Amino acid sequence: VVSIGTPERSVITTCAYCGVGCTFKAEMRGEEVVRMVPWKAGKANHGHSCVKGRFAFGYAGHRDRITRPMIRETIDQPWREVSWDEAIGRVVSEFRRIQAAHGKGAVGGITSSRCTNEETFLVQKLVRAGFGSNNVDTCARVCHSPTGYGLKTTFGTSAGTQDFDSVDHADVILVIGANPTDGHPVFAARLKRRLRQGAKLIVIDPRRIDLVRMPHVEAAHHLALKPGTNVAVLDAIAHVIVKENLVDVGFVRERCDFDSFDDWAGFVADEKNSPEAVAALSGVPAATIRAAARLYAGAKNAAIYYGLGVTEHSQGSTAVMAIANLAMVTGNLGRPGTGVNPLRGQNNVQGACDMGSFPHELSGYRHVSDEAARSVFETLWRTKLDPEPGLRIPNMLDAAVAGSFLGIYIQGEDILQSDPNTRHVAAALKAMECVVVQDLFLNETAKYAHVFLPGSTFLEKDGTFTNAERRIQRVRKAMAPKGGLADWEVTVALARGFGLDWRYRHPSEIMDEIARLTPSFAGVSYEALDRLGSIQWPCNAAAPEGTPVMHSEGFVRGKGLFVVTEYVPTEEKVGPRFPLLLTTGRSLTQYNVGAQTRRTDNTAWHEEDVLEIHPHDAEDRGIRDGEWVKLESRTGATALRALLTDRVSPGVVYTTFHHPDTQANVVTTDYSDWATNCPEYKVTAVQVSPTNGR
Ligand code: SF4
Repeated sequence: VVSIGTPERSVITTCAYCGVGCTFKAEMRGEEVVRMVPWKAGKANHGHSCVKGRFAFGYAGHRDRITRPMIRETIDQPWREVSWDEAIGRVVSEFRRIQAAHGKGAVGGITSSRCTNEETFLVQKLVRAGFGSNNVDTCARVCHSPTGYGLKTTFGTSAGTQDFDSVDHADVILVIGANPTDGHPVFAARLKRRLRQGAKLIVIDPRRIDLVRMPHVEAAHHLALKPGTNVAVLDAIAHVIVKENLVDVGFVRERCDFDSFDDWAGFVADEKNSPEAVAALSGVPAATIRAAARLYAGAKNAAIYYGLGVTEHSQGSTAVMAIANLAMVTGNLGRPGTGVNPLRGQNNVQGACDMGSFPHELSGYRHVSDEAARSVFETLWRTKLDPEPGLRIPNMLDAAVAGSFLGIYIQGEDILQSDPNTRHVAAALKAMECVVVQDLFLNETAKYAHVFLPGSTFLEKDGTFTNAERRIQRVRKAMAPKGGLADWEVTVALARGFGLDWRYRHPSEIMDEIARLTPSFAGVSYEALDRLGSIQWPCNAAAPEGTPVMHSEGFVRGKGLFVVTEYVPTEEKVGPRFPLLLTTGRSLTQYNVGAQTRRTDNTAWHEEDVLEIHPHDAEDRGIRDGEWVKLESRTGATALRALLTDRVSPGVVYTTFHHPDTQANVVTTDYSDWATNCPEYKVTAVQVSPTNGR
C-alpha cells in the first residue's frame, strides 16, 4: 500500500529489484516510505526509473511480514514464536547434531542476490569457516552461473565488459535472449534512444519482443530461432565472419591466443556450421543469418547484450563462450560501444558472485583449490579451509533426497518456487531434518522449514549492491529492521553460535574485510563510495576510481581465448505427446517469484501468469483467448489462462513465473547446463489442452 503524506526526511539508496541498480531518494515519514524518487545523480539511471523501483515498495510494511523468529519440531506442526536467542540456538544445536551424525558436509547454505554484498560475504564465510565445508551456493546458480564460467574461461573474469553509458557509442546492438523492456527497463530506454539515433538492431530471440516492434525502429534483423538452438545460430554467424574474411586480424593477432583462434576458425568454417545447415534446425532463414553476421562484423562499434535466454540452457556456458568468440573475432572489445554485456536479472547477482558465494570459488573468483588464495583467507579468519569444492544447489537437493544432506540455511531465496522441477525440490526439502529460512514472508520454501528467521528489506539496512555493469553502490538504512535485526546481524548471531568471534559493528567493516581479501575490491570502502558516488570494479592502486570498460589493453587472463563451441541438441525433445516448446520470462511490473511485487499495488498490472500461444496452435486445440488451459510436461502439470498472440511463433509457448498459484516450474525439467548446472528453464517440451478452470 502506497502511503500519502509529507516527507520528513530522505535517504539516498539503491533499488532492490533488477540489475540496472537505479539510485533513488527514499522519502520518509516516520518509519514509512512516502515515495521513491529517482535520483538524478545516480550513475546507472541518471534520474530515470521503472514501475518496480518507483511504486513497488509497499511490501516493506505489508501485513504478511513476519517479524518474530519462529520454530517448530516438524513441518506439520504450527509455528511457535520464540526469541532470537532461542531460534539461533535451535539452528546451532540442530546443525551440530546433524554434523556429528553425518559429517561436516551434511549441512550448507544458500546466499541471495537480493541481499547486500556484505550479507552474502558473511553467509559464505559462515559456511566455510563455521560449518567447515564449501557447501555454499547462490541463486546465480539458476540464472547467470554460465556467464561466470564462460567469461572467466574466455576473458579471465566473470563480469560484463562495459558500463551502461557505453551503449551511446554503439553502431550495431545485438540483443540475444533478453527482453530489456520488461527485465531492465531503464537500460532499455537508453538502448532505445541509441536506436532512435540510428544504431542498427539485431535481435536473436524466439519471441517478437518489444524491441523488435519499436515504432520507427524496425529491428534490422530478428532471428526468431527455435528455443534451444542459440549455439548453432551463433556458430553460423561466426561461420560467415570467417568464410567472408570479416575477421579483425589485427585484434586477433595482438590480443588473442592465436592457436585457439586457429582451432576455432577451422571448426566454425566447417559446412555443418553454415547458415544453410543451421537454418533447418533453428528455423532462421540462412539469408537472415548471413545478413546479421555481416552487419555485426561490419560495424565500427558493435555491442552484445544478453540475458537468461542465453544462460538457462543445457548449453548455457557454451553460448556465452560463443558470444565471446564473436566479440573477439571482430575486435569488438575494450572500447566504448562494444563488448559482451550480460544483463543481470536480480539487483545483486553480480555482487553475490563476486563475494564468493559459489562452492568452488572464494571472493574475487579464486578457486578454493588455489593454495595461495586460500591461505590469505585462512590467515585473516584464523581457520583452515576445505580445498575441495562443495555442493551446488542441485547437488544439495539430490543429496537430500539420497539422505546425506540434512540441514540448510537459506537467506532470502524461495527455491521451491524459483528452482526447476518443483516436485523434486519439495521432496528434497521434506527429506531434510533442519531447514532454516530467513526471509520477509512465509514463502513457499518456508512450508518445509523448521526455523524461520525474519529478514529485512533493503530499506532496513546499510550495505552495497553491485549492478550489471560492476558498479558498487551504497544501500542506506531508511528505517529500523522490522524484526529487530538486519540480515547481516542475523548471520553474525549465527556465526557466534557456531563459536566464531565476529565483532562487526557496521557493514562498512565487512566491506573493509572484503577489500583486504579481494584484489578487484582493494580500493573499495564506504568512504570512497560516498566520495565517488559509486565504483565499478576492478578498483585498486592501478584504478583508484574504478574501471568502466574492461580489457581495454589486455584481457584479465592475458590473451583472449577462443573456445570451440560445438552445438549439441538438448535432451528435451518435442514429440507426439509433448509437441510444443515452452520458454519462460518476466513481465515489466513483477519481479521473479513475486514475493515483493505481489504485495504492492503493482499487482494491479499483472494479476496472474498467462500462457502465450500462437493463434494457429490455439485453433488446432480448440482454445480461445482468455480460456483456461492445462500446461503439461513430462515433469508435471499446471493450469493458466491462454493469451493468443503472434509474439510467439507456432510451436512455441511462453509464460512468466511470478505467481505461486501457477507454479510454472512444476513443468520445467531437471536438464541443466553441462558446466554449471544452471537449469534449462528455456526449453521444455509441453502439451497444451483446454480445461475447465484451475
Ligand atoms: Fe531501475 Fe531495475 Fe529498479 Fe526498475 S527495477 S527502478 S530498472 S533498478
